[in-house]
Order: sequence, then structure tokens, then C-alpha cells
Amino acid sequence: MLKQSARPLADILVIDDTPENLALLSQMLTEKGYKVRSVTKGSSGIRGAQAVPPDLILLDVKMPQMDGYEVCHQLKADQRTKDIPVIFISALGDVFDKIKAFQAGGVDYITKPFQVEEVLARLNTHLTIGKLQQQLQKQNLQLQQEIAQRAAAEETFAKAFRSCPNPIAMATVAEGFFLEVNTSFLQMSGYSREEIIGRSITEINLESASAIYNQVVQKSLQNGFVRNQEFQFLTKSGTVKTILLSVEIIELAGKQCTLSIMNDITERKRLENEFISLVSHELRTPMTSMMGALDLLSSGKLGTLTEQGQQVLSIATNNTERLIRLVNDILDLERMKSGKITMQPTYCDLSLLLTQARETMQTMADRADVQLELESCSVEVFVDPDRILQTLTNLLSNAIKFSDANSKIWLRTKVLNNFCQIEVQDQGRGIPADKLQTIFERFQQVDASDSRKKGGTGLGLTICRHIIEHHGGKIWVESNFGQGSTFYLTLPLSEQKILCL
Ligand code: ADP
Repeated sequence: MLKQSARPLADILVIDDTPENLALLSQMLTEKGYKVRSVTKGSSGIRGAQAVPPDLILLDVKMPQMDGYEVCHQLKADQRTKDIPVIFISALGDVFDKIKAFQAGGVDYITKPFQVEEVLARLNTHLTIGKLQQQLQKQNLQLQQEIAQRAAAEETFAKAFRSCPNPIAMATVAEGFFLEVNTSFLQMSGYSREEIIGRSITEINLESASAIYNQVVQKSLQNGFVRNQEFQFLTKSGTVKTILLSVEIIELAGKQCTLSIMNDITERKRLENEFISLVSHELRTPMTSMMGALDLLSSGKLGTLTEQGQQVLSIATNNTERLIRLVNDILDLERMKSGKITMQPTYCDLSLLLTQARETMQTMADRADVQLELESCSVEVFVDPDRILQTLTNLLSNAIKFSDANSKIWLRTKVLNNFCQIEVQDQGRGIPADKLQTIFERFQQVDASDSRKKGGTGLGLTICRHIIEHHGGKIWVESNFGQGSTFYLTLPLSEQKILCL
């Protein structure tokens, strides 16, 4: 017996004009746990089904006024009832047209007198099919919605890609072949779409640029992305543009690809350089005269200052000196970049340069309680001695600034194959891994307060890099954060005589 509180297996509507049949079916199904509604007329059956659609309809074929075929027809024509499975009921002696029943939309038929198992089996089959169909329809709808959402997202991406003012390119990781580029990329590069698609970055750009690009791709493969890496791009007309390159690894048609978003900063850099050099030129004269006035004050020729006055004067002198250093460094760098300063190479003994650098920095090292160790050998090099000395003193000065008292700094030379390598090693605070490259850029410091606290300008390493690269060498740093750093620089040994090894 079905308990009152149990949920019915399904809601069945029985339409039959014979009350005995209705009673029989109703009892049979209710006992098995179905909820049964019964009506004796086709028209009231249709109305009932429209008002509260049942899960299945058992429909008598032979009824006065409206026969079963017609009822089924009308049910199938109505949006609210068209999906309800209809099983026809026919009597053994009746003329039953099966084809007509299926054409009207019926799914099956049962014959009176009923056999309980048969009725239940057919009912179950069609209820299950009906449920599966409903599920399928729901999933179809969901799929269609997802497809529509994806299409909308793709369209949005395609629009953003097409109209983005930043040049964007997609290329395969393995071969570096361009798959797609946007209009801004074509404008920036000067190439047409046909000239770009299917070709690689190496084919259309400088070898050196593609070396940096390959490094960026390797980094992106490790970290998933790279942001704002400076990059020199050679356009079709031969102009070199300065680009900030951001790369993300994506998958396209099962292949690993790069999504490169570029920012052309050529003009910004030009204006920045122009502005800095203009301001520096304008600042130099008044600052030199300020320094002269401060010197005059401290000489005592204009009267004696109180102790407090001398302290204030010393602060003013220190800061003016720092400003003059900054302006001089900016102008030095600008002249080097524009080629206004040329190197004056002569043959000189590297060990003498190293000794000179140590002597220059000895007072600063003594003040900081830091020991300078020199390990060099006599190697004749063809360099601008003043500029190499400038580089070495800058590296030593940094090493002293960022070392604790009682620590050591080593200044070494090594001769390797066709170049010599100079090392400046300290036991100081070290440099974090993500800053090892950037500190060679203009005004880049590990800590924003370094230049103020340690009296630097943030330009020293940029100048060193220019000097070394002008000599055809390289400069880089390796460091264990918290345990010290080693700055390396190489100078080519071509046409040099090794005096002693
Ligand atoms: P600055 O005039 O600030 O020293 P540099 O270009 O010479 O400018 O150096 C840039 C920054 O690199 C420094 O401000 C500091 O943060 C970091 N740096 C340079 N050398 C060292 C070192 N030996 N140890 C730790 N940090 C260093």
C-alpha cells in the first residue's frame, strides 16, 4: 500500500468513457504508487492536461463526441502538452488503426482486457523515455546557451584584438611562426598581413632581437607570462622601435602559442631623454654657482658661522654635491648614448688600473671598516683607462655602500680564452633575483630609498654598462640575496699581449 506521505512515481491522466475501465486502471496504478487523474471525456482531458500537464496520458481510442485520435492530435498541437507521451487503449474487438494512432502522435498502445504487468511495463518504458528526453532537451538547451556564450566571448575577444591600439601578435612557440596579428601590429611593423603570417620573428627581425624574444618565450614557458620586457623591433623600413613586450602562453588548436602584447614607447623614450637632458643642461649653471657660494660661505671669508650654521651649511653642501653628481651623470650618459663621448683607447696594464681603482676607494673602504682585497695579474688591454677606472670605482663604491663593517671585498682578474674577466665580489646585503637585470637600467634600485640613504644617483650601473658595451664587453651580476653579490665584466683580448699569466 502507498503511504500518504510518499511521493507518487508519476502523474498519470486516464481519458476513457467507460467508468469501469477508469476505476480498474485507477486502482491498479494507485496501488503501484502512481497519482491518477481520470476523466471520461476527451475535451475535459485536454483541458486538464493543459492546466496541469501530467507525466503520461492513457487515452481510450473509442469515445463519443471526440475520439482518441482527435484528442491526441489536439494534445500534440498544443505547446503545453505536445511532449507528454500518449499511450492508446483499445478493446480487443475494436477496429484500431495503429498507423493512425502513431501518426496522431501516440507512442504505444495497450489492449483491453488489461494485463497488469504489461500496462506497468509499457508505462515504465515510456515514462523513462520521457524523462530521458526531458533531460536531453535540458542538456541541449544548456549546450546551446554555452555555445552562444562562447561565441559572444570570442566575438568580444576578436573585437578587442582587432581594435586594440597596442600591437598584438600570436605565434607558435616551437617554430615562432606568426599565426595572427592585429592592425596596430601591421601599422607598427610596416609589413602587410601576407608578409607576416606564416613567417617567423627571426625572418622578419634582427638576430639580436630574436635572441631577446627567445629568452622572453623561455621565461614565459617557465612562469606562464612575462611583463614589459624592453625589446628593439626592426620595422620593414629599417627603423628601430623601442617596445615593451608582454607575453602570455596560450593554447591554439592544441598547439602551445605565445600571445604577445606590445607597447611602442619609442616616442615616449625620445621625449623623456630630451626632457632629462634639457633640464640637466638648465640646472648645471645655477648649481655650479650655488656650489661656489656655499664654498665661499664655508671658507669663512664672509664671517664666521655658528656651529648650527655650519651644520646647516654642511647639509646644503652635501645635497648640492649630490645634485651636481646626478646632473653630471645624466649628461654623461646622454653624451655616451648619442655618441658625443668617444672612448680614447690606449694600451694599458689592467693590473695598474685595478691598483689605481683600489687606491681611489681605499679611504671610503676604511671609513666603512671594509677590507679591499686585490688579486690581479698583468694583462695588457686596449681600453680607455679613465672610463674603465670610472667603472671599477663605481662597482667598488657600490660594494662598499652595501656591505657591513668588517666584511671583505675582492677585486679579481682572470684571463679566459680570448677575453679577460674582472670580478668585484662583496659579502653585503645581496640583490634579489628579480632585480639582477633591472638595476642596470636608468634610475633602478633594489630599494627606492637607496639613492637617498646611500648617496647614489641610480645611474652608475647604466653608465658602467655603456662603457663596457662600448669596449665590446659584457657586464652582469650574480647574487645570493642576503649573502653578497659578484659583479662581472669582460673585456675582449683581441690584439692584446698577455704579459703574465
Ligand atoms: P646608485 O647610485 O643608486 O648606487 P647604481 O646604478 O650604481 O646606482 O646601482 C643601482 C642599484 O643597484 C643600487 O641603488 C642598489 O640598489 C643596487 N646595487 C648596486 N650594487 C650593489 C651591491 N654591490 N650590493 C647590493 N646592491 C647593489
